[in-house]
Amino acid sequence: MKTSYINGAFISAGNNVLENKNPSDLSDIVDRFSRAGRAEAEQAVAAATAATPAWGTSSPQERFDALDFIGSEILSRREELGALLSREEGKTLPEGIGEVTRAGYLFKFFAGEAVRIGGERLESVRKGATVDITREPVGVVGIITPWNFPIAIPAWKIAPALCYGNCVVFKPAELVPSSAWALAEIISRSGLPAGVFNMVVGPGSEVGDAIIGSDAVQAVTFTGSVNTGSMIAQRCAARMAKAQLELGGKNPLIVLDDANLEQAVDVAVQGGFYSTGQRCTASSRVIVTDGIYDDFIQRFVEKTQALRVGPALDETTQIGPVASESQLRQDLEYIDIAKQEGATLLAGGNRVEADSDGYYLQPTIFADVNNAMRICQEEVFGPVVTVSRVADYEAALAEANDTPFGLSSGICTTSLKYAEHYKRHAKAGMVMVNMPTAGVDYHVPFGGSKGSSYGPREQGRYAAEFYTRVKTAYQFAN
Ligand code: NAD
Repeated sequence: MKTSYINGAFISAGNNVLENKNPSDLSDIVDRFSRAGRAEAEQAVAAATAATPAWGTSSPQERFDALDFIGSEILSRREELGALLSREEGKTLPEGIGEVTRAGYLFKFFAGEAVRIGGERLESVRKGATVDITREPVGVVGIITPWNFPIAIPAWKIAPALCYGNCVVFKPAELVPSSAWALAEIISRSGLPAGVFNMVVGPGSEVGDAIIGSDAVQAVTFTGSVNTGSMIAQRCAARMAKAQLELGGKNPLIVLDDANLEQAVDVAVQGGFYSTGQRCTASSRVIVTDGIYDDFIQRFVEKTQALRVGPALDETTQIGPVASESQLRQDLEYIDIAKQEGATLLAGGNRVEADSDGYYLQPTIFADVNNAMRICQEEVFGPVVTVSRVADYEAALAEANDTPFGLSSGICTTSLKYAEHYKRHAKAGMVMVNMPTAGVDYHVPFGGSKGSSYGPREQGRYAAEFYTRVKTAYQFAN
């Protein structure tokens, strides 16, 4: 049975078992874990606290070496780890390998950042004095992650936390602990001192609750649902801890009359359905102008119906299963809601029978929607896309921005004028022109506006804002 990793050792929490199943084949148990609880979370926080003074003053070279080792090891095992991820979460093998590759490069990127952490020296406005502005680690960082990117999301939080000299207590999602365990096993061999990195596998209501409630945890970074995130931010604020949240999305993709039709259809199919639509950046609302609407709908429906849904590790599969029974139930509920609201079902809408017993769902398209419907305002987090028809660019822009979320926002157009206008006026943290809303780089900021994100940005050099505190030191030269 696999265990949590606390204070430099893999430690059993007893015989309370957490099992994770393969969503492509429910008879396949991926792993069995000893389920940790509050006591193990508290041990992990204590270990991280004890390790903080030494790691917080460690040399850039030590940090570089550890992060570079982790990145190299991940990249050298990307096929094996990608297959594990696909088996555990349900995304296709190319998607699994792609995610693992990204995780490897995230560690490499932050290895480089570790030797570039800088400050600045200014002249004081008072004669004879100087001012040093430096960045210091925050201390112990709590990391709580969701199930849809089991290795990339942990990587984009763990790598900067360690890079800037913090110690980590990491709680992965219960649904996908095997990918997290594989990452922890690599980290355990990276030369980090005991206690610098800890992973506790257990439920949010106990392990997560203990992390966010501990006065020793000075910062909590969370990716997941809006309700849990909002609760975490409030509890962190009550004890003056930092909080960083990445939450949901209801990302629009505008297709203008002047778009390249085939490209726009590909962008809509990839953005809406790849990773089975289980991406916070998925383009779940396609907004199409009048002149191209009929042609777009015809090609979009054709391409969507031709997608092969099946087991994640099957080479011919393009769309894997939904990750869990509760997610499948939620997707089917939203399909019912859309029908009750009067939307027209153009493709999909049903479970798919396959040779293995898994959570297969047809990629689904609804048309004849208006943006006030729940199906256009609430995040489904599955392979369900709405298409609406608008008169022109101005109407499309207004509809795209009419959402409580603001993560990623896309447009397909050959017009430089509209592309430039959209980049400035889309109310979202990330804008994509002629590219799926979902594919992002590892070296630049990631995050949203409005209800999608809270606190400083993740990734790239901007990650320093969350994982460090700024100190201003004055000195008078005697
Ligand atoms: P979730 O909020 O249910 O769980 C996320 C994590 O929080 C899990 O590890 C869970 O165990 C933990 N948790 C749950 N209750 C807790 C509590 N009371 N205290 C502390 N921790 C607790 O979300 P999920 O279902 O795992 O993930 C899906 C959601 O994540 C979607 O809404 C999606 O949009 C969002 N998401 C956002 C991004 C982004 O970057 N914006 C990326 C991926 C997923």
